[in-house]
Amino acid sequence: MSILIKNGYCLKEKDEICDIFIENGKIKKIEKDINKQADEIIDASNCIVLPSFCNAHTHLAMSLFRGMADDLALMDWLNNHIFPNEAKYVNKEMVYICSKLSMLEMIRGGVGCFMDMYFFEEEVAKAALEIGIKGIIGEGIVDFETPSCKSVDDALSKTESLKREFESEKIKVSFAPHSTYTLSKDSLKKISDKAQGSIIQIHANETTGEVDMALKDKGKRPIALLDELGLLTDKTYLAHCVAHNDNDIELTKKRNAKVINVPQSNLKLASGIAPIYKILKNDIEVLIGTDGSASNNNLDIIEELRTMSLIQKIISMDETALNAKDTFNMGTKSLFEDSGKLKEGFSADITIIKLDSFEATPMYDPYSYLAYAANSRDVSTVIVDGKIILKDRKFVNIDEEEIKFKVKDMAKKLGAWH
Ligand SMILES: [Zn+2]
Repeated sequence: MSILIKNGYCLKEKDEICDIFIENGKIKKIEKDINKQADEIIDASNCIVLPSFCNAHTHLAMSLFRGMADDLALMDWLNNHIFPNEAKYVNKEMVYICSKLSMLEMIRGGVGCFMDMYFFEEEVAKAALEIGIKGIIGEGIVDFETPSCKSVDDALSKTESLKREFESEKIKVSFAPHSTYTLSKDSLKKISDKAQGSIIQIHANETTGEVDMALKDKGKRPIALLDELGLLTDKTYLAHCVAHNDNDIELTKKRNAKVINVPQSNLKLASGIAPIYKILKNDIEVLIGTDGSASNNNLDIIEELRTMSLIQKIISMDETALNAKDTFNMGTKSLFEDSGKLKEGFSADITIIKLDSFEATPMYDPYSYLAYAANSRDVSTVIVDGKIILKDRKFVNIDEEEIKFKVKDMAKKLGAWH
């Protein structure tokens, strides 16, 4: 399969109008006026062409709970609403269908890869492979019984079997200890022993309350605790980091761990604002995520970029913090090594945005437009691994109505009226 994208304004590596030739899933050539035969030709005049966005922290299947319990603090929201409903309604079918809904929502917003932590993650992998999106999956590990695993040991052996079954160019498998407040020190150590050399994702420093709990119960702040137990590595992704103090930043940098900023979910749960401008000054890699739809309540990465930039400016009292290009770069940083750039030899993970909206009129600087004016409805075409998933704002060979119908049908049991 080959694709030729003609006359698009290509961002980041080129910043000029050129053509892109894609073959066997890879970007083969980027230059002006490519004259080659291709199975598919996309006219990208009046479009910007960019590496697809990445949503680095999600709980995809939680789309079922979107709008079900709003306006609550994190612990109340989790303990009194989310955990009880998960115990009742989360099963294989729910994860498969509701994850698919979220994947379509993400692709509609220009996202080509994600990192997910939830239950029955084999269903997330299956859904992703069917839809064509790439991702890192992680079976959530906690000290209590989950809908998919009876114990920490159970979740660990499940992680190993997910690795055997799904680890590939499109799906990577991580260890996903939920947090320091849902796991004992012994459990965290057990996970650490198994996870050495693997990708680890964990919620960390999401609130100051979480820090207080760690200090009281385990004698250390979450980041220091993770470090002591060998869970803070160059393959660790720390979601949230709202309560990161200078010592936490120093330790994160020392171990080369990555930070995932989740601005809108943190605002909605009144958790606070992560000091991303400070974290970036320390050369720590930062990616951006939405969290699940139950605490956001959408998976719109373009919205997150704007929110992140604006709130970092206000907390730093520095209008130059998180400028448009830095913001864009953060949103297009990939979880996959050969992705995140429009570069020859890289995977063809490409988003095309049509500049036909009011927000795109006029256009001086595409980075400014993407960081401060664009929205996900402007996305026209999404290609992942050289396969067109969305074309001219329509899904290719995917019945989105059927997926929406199934989710609505499931949500009726929880009291949804539509
Ligand atoms: Zn989360």
